Order: sequence, then structure tokens, then C-alpha cells
Amino acid sequence: MDFEFTKEQTKFRQEVQQFLEDEIKQGTFQPACDAWIQGYSPEFTKKVSRKGWIGLTWPIEYGGQGRGHIDRLILTEEMLRYGAPAACHWFADRQIGGAVLRYGTEEQKRWMLPKIIAGEAYVGLGLSEPEAGSDLASLRTKATESGDEYIIDGQKMWTSCGMFMNFIYVVARTDPDAPQHRGISEFVFETDRPGVTITPTIDITGSTAWAEVFFDGVRIPSTCLIGEKNRGFYQVVNQLDYERAGMERLMGNYPLFDAILKFTKETKRNGKPIAEDTLIRQKLAQLQIEFEVGRLLTYKVVMVMEEGRAPNVEAAKAKAYSTAFERRLASVTMDILGQYGQLWAESKYAPITGMGPHSYLASTGYSLQAGTSEVLRNVIAARGLGLPSS
Ligand SMILES: Cc1cc2nc3c(=O)[nH]c(=O)nc-3n(C[C@H](O)[C@H](O)[C@H](O)COP(=O)(O)OP(=O)(O)OC[C@H]3O[C@@H](n4cnc5c(N)ncnc54)[C@H](O)[C@@H]3O)c2cc1C
Repeated sequence: MDFEFTKEQTKFRQEVQQFLEDEIKQGTFQPACDAWIQGYSPEFTKKVSRKGWIGLTWPIEYGGQGRGHIDRLILTEEMLRYGAPAACHWFADRQIGGAVLRYGTEEQKRWMLPKIIAGEAYVGLGLSEPEAGSDLASLRTKATESGDEYIIDGQKMWTSCGMFMNFIYVVARTDPDAPQHRGISEFVFETDRPGVTITPTIDITGSTAWAEVFFDGVRIPSTCLIGEKNRGFYQVVNQLDYERAGMERLMGNYPLFDAILKFTKETKRNGKPIAEDTLIRQKLAQLQIEFEVGRLLTYKVVMVMEEGRAPNVEAAKAKAYSTAFERRLASVTMDILGQYGQLWAESKYAPITGMGPHSYLASTGYSLQAGTSEVLRNVIAARGLGLPSS
């Protein structure tokens, strides 16, 4: 298999790198871990939009660039490498725009896609509920049809970017009498509608990047329904493949990886850089090997997408593997940094700008969000290996 990028692709990578370096120089952002999900910067999103890099693979007729998935891979890989604050557009660009393209009406495409491409629609993901996570089909949020409207009642939790999203994608029950998987539909609508209440969720790192969202008699036009009524669950499953498939599962903490490598080269013990310590070298080399394996697994996902197939088993493999890597990266970093490594960014004594504790704590959630590793192993076993379903 030939893994060489074409000349055009290499040139595109250089263009993205140059753009990001210029933005850092201009002070638009500083590289940060988890910036794809926590980095709120409307200014940066607007600049990415002006480059034509939101909706890169979408058809030109809807304002996209009609480019290949490998170009998009290159773009996201570099955004993550530089820790760029892309959270405002990430979810819409990664999956909700795609869901509208696949299942939406012509009217919805013309309504939603230009807003996403312009970097103006920040879409949060409203799937999980207090009693529905892995078992999404047990969700209770209702969407009751009333004339040419739906009325939404219920609650979502762990809604990423909840505190700044202006649109929310919601999966709700549209037929309470149907078997669990059959009575569910997908919607997307504005969060400034009466009856929507958003409260922050403070996570283990102190971040408020997530929210609980309450719907109390929220009226939305029927045109907010994506695809077929009561067939939403099957659409969601497809959409989740795209949620799991991305390079962000592997490279969300790339600035940390970069920083710890530099730290071991620059920090001396007994007159020698600690990178020359045998045990530290082995740990870093092992991480590098694991990183390259994760990268190949993610490339495989993109190749499947290039072939026009939904990446199901491939996405499950890449996500389960990559989030385990992210956890090891944070753990090895903390081992290397020692006691000072526990200091947060606020302390002037914190090594590598205090990235260690943030990533160490945040990494505990990576194997939960977008499908737990146990559930992904079930996907690999049943769909990949043909073993009986659990
Ligand atoms: C940081 C973070 C961000 C998130 N962002 C979002 C978001 O933006 N939008 C959103 O809707 N949700 C989001 N979530 C929620 C996430 O999707 C759920 O946490 C996840 O689906 C697991 O659901 P749960 O927490 O209810 O756990 P449960 O489903 O109750 O699982 C509990 C445990 O049981 C195991 N388990 C469950 N079912 C099986 C099974 N069939 N086989 C084997 N083991 C099983 C799980 O692996 C887990 O260990 C986020 C979560 C986190 C931590």
C-alpha cells in the first residue's frame, strides 16, 4: 500500500501549517490540548471559514469545496498538531453537516450548510440523557408532532460546547408506542428558542465545556426534522461512525506530546538531558510507536470514507485504540514530570505550562465520550469478527 501523499496534498499541508503558524504569531491562539472540543474562538472559526476549510468535502453547490477526505484528514491533523481552537465549528463540520447532506431535504441543506460553512452555526450534540448513554435507544426526550410543529420536552446531558452553541442536534422519541429503536427521530434547531435552558457541567478538570440542556415545551418547525420520522436511530448509528472516526481521538493532546519531548531534551539531570535516561527513552519511543499505529488506524478510516463506505468497524478500532493511547501519553507524562507535574497552569513552577494534570484528568473521559471502549469492542466483535452480539 502506498502511503505517499500527492504533491498537491503536501502543498495543502504546508499551506495549513503556514496559516496556523501565522495565527499563532498574530496571537489569535496559543496551542492547547483538547482545543478541538474546548477551544472557543469565533474569530478563529471565521478565519478558517474564509479559507474555505469548513465543509471542505461538501458539494460545491452548497458552498463546500468538493474536495476529498484525505484533504480533510490533512487539515484536521494539522489543526490538532497545532492545538488550534476549532470547537465552534468542529461538530457541525465533522458530523451534523454530513447528516444534513445525507438525510436532509433540499430546503434544509440550503438553510443549514451555508451557516456552517460561514462559521456561524455552532452545533452541540444532544444525544445522551441521564438514563441513556450507551443504550441510546432508551432515551426519553419527546418530540410531539402538533400541526406543522414539534414540541420538545426532556433533558440532554454532556452536551459538548453546550455553553456556546447556537444550534443543537437532538435525538428524541417521536413514537412512544413503537419498539425502542423504531420511534426515534433526529432534529436540529436554534438554542435561543423559548423553553431551552442550558446549564454548565463542571468536569473533573474544572472545565465548563459541557452542559445539561433542558427542553420545556420547545416549539420547533417540522422542517427541523432530519430525514425520516421514526427512522432516526438508524441514521444516528451512521452519524456516530463519523463522530468516532476522527484524528482528534488520537491527537487531541498533541501539544502535550510535543511539550514532553522538548522537556526531556531540555531538562538535565547529572549534566545530561533526561531524554538520555534509558527508561525515559524507552517510554517515549513506545509512545511514538503507538502514536504511529493510531495514525495508520485513522488513515484506514479515511480510506474507507474515500471509497464511499461508512467507517463502522474501522472507526471503532481507531477510537478504542487512540483513546487508550491518549491515556498512556498523559500517564507517562506525569511519570516523567514527577511531583512538579501536578501543578496547574496557574503556578509559576508548573512544568510544560501545566498541561500535565489537565490531560491526565481529561483523558479519563476519552474512553467514554462518543461510545465507551467496551461498546466499541462489541462493535468490533460483532460487526468486524462476526461473533454473536452481546
Ligand atoms: C467528556 C465527555 C463528553 C461527552 N460529550 C457528549 C456530547 O457532546 N453529547 C452527548 O450526547 N453525549 C456526550 N457524552 C456522553 C457519552 O456519550 C456517554 O457518557 C457514553 O455514551 C456512555 O454513557 P453513560 O455515561 O450513560 O454510561 P453507561 O452507558 O451507563 O455505561 C456505564 C458502563 O457500562 C458499560 N457498558 C454499557 N453498555 C455496555 C454493553 N452493551 N457492553 C459492555 N459494557 C457496557 C460502559 O462501557 C461503561 O463502562 C460525553 C461524555 C463525556 C465523558
